[in-house]
Amino acid sequence: MQIDLVSRAAWGARAPRQRHTVPWSLRTEFFVHHTDGPVDQTMRSIQDFHMDGNGWSDIGYNHLVRDSGTIYEGRGWLVVGAHCPGHNRTGHSVAYIGRDTPTAAALRSMRWLYDEACRRAGRELKMLGHGERFATACPGSRLQAWVDQGMPIDGEAPPAPDPTEVIVKKLPVLRQGDKGWDVKTLHYLLLARDYGGLDGVDDTVFTPAHAEGVRGLQAAAGIEADGIVGPKTWPVLLRLS
Ligand SMILES: [Zn+2]
Repeated sequence: MQIDLVSRAAWGARAPRQRHTVPWSLRTEFFVHHTDGPVDQTMRSIQDFHMDGNGWSDIGYNHLVRDSGTIYEGRGWLVVGAHCPGHNRTGHSVAYIGRDTPTAAALRSMRWLYDEACRRAGRELKMLGHGERFATACPGSRLQAWVDQGMPIDGEAPPAPDPTEVIVKKLPVLRQGDKGWDVKTLHYLLLARDYGGLDGVDDTVFTPAHAEGVRGLQAAAGIEADGIVGPKTWPVLLRLS
């Protein structure tokens, strides 16, 4: 694969205010970000924003990638970044210049950087989207789905996942006898759906009264009325479907 790598000198980078490096032995993660700006934003304007707007010592990321597939040297290999609190030493970072519409060429370049980072580190780095380690929508749902799939390079980023699926994926399957916080959630969702069978019923255990309420909602929604709260029933309880 032909790699088009633009050095700091070539894009006219300002000198960093300070610069710290770590050894490869410390690098364990590879982070994917997006700049959340226009796809034609210049490197220099991103750096100016990070240094003058955010007050950072340099552009935040180690590398950046554009839709053309061009790779830009940000802070570069092994330099401590400013991209994810608590992970700037352990994580190498690449940012897609844009929001959530990476081209196949941009994905190929990000994957090349990942493989190159693993080669230099001498081991596999953990693939992460920024939002997996910090409360942020970065790198956007398509790029995150691509990271979740192991950063495949044959084609475009996967379509943005259905937000209902994302929420429901995090919820457990609940049956009669189950206990815990998710049962409490179920209890109050049933109350919110005007189910009247829960007066004086323990909200920490999935009781027969809860199962009856669930069966009623399932029947009304036209799904199997088995009294078990799974991926088809949660959306009904949450009014997502
Ligand atoms: Zn980010």
